[in-house]
This record gives sequence, structure tokens and C-alpha cells, in this order.
Amino acid sequence: MTTFLAPAALEEALSALAQGPAEVLAGGTDLWPKWSSGQPKPARVLSLHRLAALRRIELEGGALRIGAACTHSELARSPEVRRACPALVEAALTVGAIQIQNQGTIGGNLVNASPAADLPPPLVAAAAEVELRSARGVRRLPLAAFYLGYRKTALAPDELLTAIHVPALPAGARERFRKVGTRRAQSIAKVAVAGRLELAPDGTIARAGLALGSVGPTVVRLEALERELRGRAPDAETARDAEARARAAVQPIDDLRSSADYRRHVVGRLVRSFLLDL
Ligand SMILES: Cc1cc2nc3c(=O)[nH]c(=O)nc-3n(C[C@H](O)[C@H](O)[C@H](O)COP(=O)(O)OP(=O)(O)OC[C@H]3O[C@@H](n4cnc5c(N)ncnc54)[C@H](O)[C@@H]3O)c2cc1C
Repeated sequence: MTTFLAPAALEEALSALAQGPAEVLAGGTDLWPKWSSGQPKPARVLSLHRLAALRRIELEGGALRIGAACTHSELARSPEVRRACPALVEAALTVGAIQIQNQGTIGGNLVNASPAADLPPPLVAAAAEVELRSARGVRRLPLAAFYLGYRKTALAPDELLTAIHVPALPAGARERFRKVGTRRAQSIAKVAVAGRLELAPDGTIARAGLALGSVGPTVVRLEALERELRGRAPDAETARDAEARARAAVQPIDDLRSSADYRRHVVGRLVRSFLLDL
């Protein structure tokens, strides 16, 4: 039999996790299908639905703090998220369909660690950090470092993902998320590309953040390309070089959704069009 815990205070939730393993339940859009498919139910389930502290979105100075239990719809409706990380809104609006967006949370999307999840690419491109809390204390990690491999994260069994910290998009900078799937709704990405571009006063690239979904075991950050872009003009030549380098940097797999060749081609084209602001 499963014991169902629904604490109303964060400290209570952390102390329950400190006492032994429990499966954390947020929106349940990943967990319910898993449980319904006949997998053994956990001995303890810890629901986050009464923890109002995990549903807050705050924009303070240059940083956005998003509570882990905010739903995709709440992200899309938030003026703070729209201003500070518009690519995250674009990504949230492509998750499943409206019912999934109303129910699924940002925390569940990140912890579930699907290679095809839509929210990690824009967050990695924006250099977001995750806030992990346990009864032992709190720590922050770059989201890119949170992913250790295929469906493997740095989250300890007694930790909760409590918030995501995102540096706000600076004035004059731009970002974008593009997902290529079979259709617009209820489609898992064949490829997703997110980028954030900050320009220096002379028009050259001061910082580029580029991250991809569905082309590796986990979200892929194009770190070498980001470094190479610094100081260059975002013109046709730079975009052409970036297209080739992005293609060379990924080793996607062939699977039922797409071929590796198609994925590599699309990655290059989307990186190119992002740099040219097409
Ligand atoms: C029909 C359908 C379509 C979908 N389409 C998409 C899509 O297009 N794109 C996409 O990215 N995803 C999609 N998904 C997957 C899913 O909806 C999202 O990943 C969603 O954001 C998961 O959030 P949740 O709150 O429902 O997670 P849950 O199912 O509650 O939890 C998922 C996992 O995260 C853990 N967890 C949740 N919150 C926390 C926390 N705060 N701290 C620690 N652990 C936590 C849980 O223990 C569990 O392991 C789809 C799912 C369905 C059923």
C-alpha cells in the first residue's frame, strides 16, 4: 500500500524526505502514465500540491526566480517570465496541449530528465541554475551540470528541486526557442533549439547561449561554439560557420521520431536562422 503525504509547509516536506525515500508528485503528467503502465507503485508519495511557496514567480533586479511547482500555463501567463525569459514561454506553450500545460510543472519537466523535454534548452541557453533543498541545506547548480546522463540528474533522494533562477534577458538582447515535431500539439520534439544572444555596443556578439533538445542523451549545450561566436558580428558568414559547427558538434540517434541525418541538418539550419534573426 502507498502512503500519500501532502505537507503544507516546505520544512515538513524536507523532513519527510529525510526520513526515507518517497516519490515526489507534482503535476503527475509523467508519473501517472508510468504508474498506470503497471510499474510498481512507490511505498511513499510526497505531493507538492499544498506547497504555495513552490508556486511563486519573482523578478528581482536582474534575476527571475521560478518556483518549481509552477505549471507551464502559469509560466506562459506570467508578465515576469515573458519579459525575463521569452524563450521559456515559447517552450512552455509547445508542451503537450493545453491540458498538459495546465497540469505539468517546470520542476517535473526538469527532474524527469527526458532528452526530448522542452524546457531545458531555453533555460540552459539562458545560463539558469537550479535550487536544490533538503533538510541538510540548500545548494545551487547550473542546470547544464544538473544533468549527468540519460535520465540521470544530480538530485539526491532527500532533495527537492525548489526553484529555478534565470538571469533576466538584458535590454537589447534576444532569445528564441524553436521545436520541430510532427505537428503543433501533442508532439514530442524531433529537434529543439534555443538561443540567447547578447550584443556589445559595437554590434558584435558579447555572449551567445545555445542549447539543443532531442539530439543527445540529455540537453546539449554548444559551449565551444558559444566561445567561438564571442566578438564576431552576427552576419551571414558567422551564421554559415555556426551552422557547420553546430552540425559537427552533435551526434543524434536514429529513432522512431526521426533520423540522425535529418536532426543534424535541422540543428544547423535553426542555429543559422537564429543568428540571422530570421
Ligand atoms: C500527453 C502528454 C504530452 C506531453 N508532451 C510533452 C511535450 O511536448 N514536451 C515536454 O517537455 N514534455 C511533455 N510531456 C511530459 C510532461 O508533461 C512534462 O515533463 C511535465 O512538465 C512534467 O511535470 P509534472 O509536474 O507533471 O511532473 P510529475 O509527473 O509530477 O513528475 C515527474 C518527475 O519529476 C519528479 N519531480 C517533480 N517535481 C519535483 C520537484 N520539485 N523536486 C523533485 N522531484 C520532482 C517526480 O518525482 C517525477 O520523477 C507530456 C506528457 C504527456 C502525458
